[in-house]
Amino acid sequence: MLKKTLGIFITIILSMVVSTPVFSASKKSVSGIRLWSAPDNTRVVLDISKPVEHKIFRLSGPDRVVIDLKDTSVNKKILKNSMLKKGVLKGVRGAVRNKKNYRLVLDLSEKVKIKSFLVKPNEKYGHRLVVDLQTSQKVKKTEPVKTAKKAVAKQRDFVVVIDPGHGGEDPGAVGPSRVYEKKVVLAVGKKLAAQINKQPGMKAYLTRKGDYYLPLRKRMNIARKYQADMFISLHADAFRDKRVNGASVYTLSNRGASTEAAKWLAKKENASDLVGGVSIDDKDDMLASVLLDLSQSATLDASTDLARNVFKEIKKVSKLHTKKVEKAGFVVLKSPDIPSILVELGYISNPREERSLNSSKHQFKLAKAITSGVKRYYKKTGIARVKQYGEQYVVARGDTISSIAKRYKVSTSDIKRANSLKGDRLRVGDALFIPAGS
Ligand SMILES: [Zn+2]
Repeated sequence: MLKKTLGIFITIILSMVVSTPVFSASKKSVSGIRLWSAPDNTRVVLDISKPVEHKIFRLSGPDRVVIDLKDTSVNKKILKNSMLKKGVLKGVRGAVRNKKNYRLVLDLSEKVKIKSFLVKPNEKYGHRLVVDLQTSQKVKKTEPVKTAKKAVAKQRDFVVVIDPGHGGEDPGAVGPSRVYEKKVVLAVGKKLAAQINKQPGMKAYLTRKGDYYLPLRKRMNIARKYQADMFISLHADAFRDKRVNGASVYTLSNRGASTEAAKWLAKKENASDLVGGVSIDDKDDMLASVLLDLSQSATLDASTDLARNVFKEIKKVSKLHTKKVEKAGFVVLKSPDIPSILVELGYISNPREERSLNSSKHQFKLAKAITSGVKRYYKKTGIARVKQYGEQYVVARGDTISSIAKRYKVSTSDIKRANSLKGDRLRVGDALFIPAGS
């Protein structure tokens, strides 16, 4: 976890890279290389003995990136590793230059954009130089929304984007038996996606499917690309008092967190951007928050409704940390147009909860509970969406065409026409298409 001073630290480091004389003249060393690969980014992390003065540039024909490290030696063994291949990276080689400097060459399969920064030691790693090799966007767009006329045959699914927090170089919270938050939330996220994909009319996507870091803004952008109707960010909590336990559900607060603890937690989760990447994308936060105030109240109501439903269901399978849904200023929840919640699945710092969070059985229970919460929300708040897209509805006991029509604010004849129904009979379990309202 990170302290408040980190933002300042990064600013200093960035200016050091530019102005340079602050670096100590003594020899530095590189002791390891780690690679993380995301769909549009390959991250190269060098473990260094202390902040190193460096220059990074691209060359083409063939595409490669050169990293010149001043006053630095590199343990040659790490370059012999045949595993130094991932994403766009085809291999790493290097040589001593001018007796005291070192040049690393990253051979690439395609042209990239480079972003690099130094990171201070954390619980797990020492000083690091992080180099991001960014390729062009590869996230596929969902199919364009069909018009009402064509929609009779193909309805638009209700899209849930699931966001497992942290990843890659950022482990998130770490339990007493070294269980990582990033691993637990990915496991629950995958189970949740599988559950949701079993529901008629629903489709789930994950912001990350593997062990790599995504900046917070990027996670929101992925949700927007998939035209998400709902965004669920998954995390696990930690506290220095190991007795503290229980799950919590959060919605975004514009006007400050509902409790001091919520404020503290938001700071901690938002700080992950400073671990995973310099939060350059957050520069316009002030402006963004002003705009959010204007456009977000409707989404906030929907988020609160969703959060309450999920909270009720989690209560059935887990202890809860709080008596009700909390509010906090999580960056990742700031999509003005997508109802968003953040679920802290439990305290990974509590030995008993660390064990259960790490067990496939409990992960499955949590995924099922969240799915039930999502379904309850979906049933209740389908109306607004129907107006835009039309929707699938599964007939329940006691339903009549007129009761369904009333619920969705459409006419009975529209429902009949859209589903080619002759009479008024409905069968429980039948999927009806509710046409878009005018
Ligand atoms: Zn987290």
